Amino acid sequence: LLNIEHIGKAFGDNQVLKDISLQVMPGEIVSIIGPSGSGKSTFLRCATLLETMDNGSLYYDGIPACKAADTPDGPSIYVSKQELAKVHEHFGLVFQNFNLFPHYSVLKNVMDAPIRVRKVPRDEAEKQARDLLAQFGLADKADSYPCELSGGQQQRVGVARALALRPKILFLDEPTSALDPELTADVLKVLKQLASEHMTMVIVTHELEFAREVSDRIIFLENGQILEEGHPDELFSSSKQRVQDFIGKLS
Ligand code: ATP
Ligand code: MG
Repeated sequence: LLNIEHIGKAFGDNQVLKDISLQVMPGEIVSIIGPSGSGKSTFLRCATLLETMDNGSLYYDGIPACKAADTPDGPSIYVSKQELAKVHEHFGLVFQNFNLFPHYSVLKNVMDAPIRVRKVPRDEAEKQARDLLAQFGLADKADSYPCELSGGQQQRVGVARALALRPKILFLDEPTSALDPELTADVLKVLKQLASEHMTMVIVTHELEFAREVSDRIIFLENGQILEEGHPDELFSSSKQRVQDFIGKLS
């Protein structure tokens, strides 16, 4: 479904991503773990085309959406705007800080994009949004504003909003890191529910137990490189001391 080949990215002298490749199959759940500053968010931003890459290419469903090439004049990106927009439509994004529209009600937050982007008729978008909110235990919050919700509730709205566009692949960057343990559990429950429905997901997380439980594959990123990658059982029994130290510290 998603094929990322040899991505490289630098901010000035800081080479943040060094030759990272990732393939994601339909229905697969891939978690990305690793220390702070290792490049996880940058990778996710490049993978979702929110950030340009210096090297490498990205194919979505076989469509080349982004190709970067080193030229004597510096990196150049080859992609048509139409292709990019088409590919972007299939991506759902959830970030650490919720990013809800504060002046929209919960319901409007969820139904706005389908109406604007997908031209879904209003009644249909509203029904779909209410169904999603109900699915995540938020039916009674439809008319509330984000500031009236707890962090966990806001984040569940964030997930509902991302799903309202019916993405083929959902990217989540530390969806629970701003939450206390109880609220974290709420959000993880929603994500487990999506996992059981075989939603394709790429998740950056520090929740190792969760990652172990839901992931088909875990990637350990350090200094912008993939240090270890594999089935959760393989990763957790990695022979690399660095991986063991990291897991030990977090669990
Ligand atoms: P964390 O776990 O703390 O979220 P991370 O693995 O997500 O960390 P990134 O946010 O990807 O790390 O940052 C990787 C490196 O890239 C850091 O050294 C950071 O300072 C740098 N960086 C990230 N974004 C930018 C930017 N827009 N401009 C310059 N440097 C950046
Ligand atoms: Mg980050």
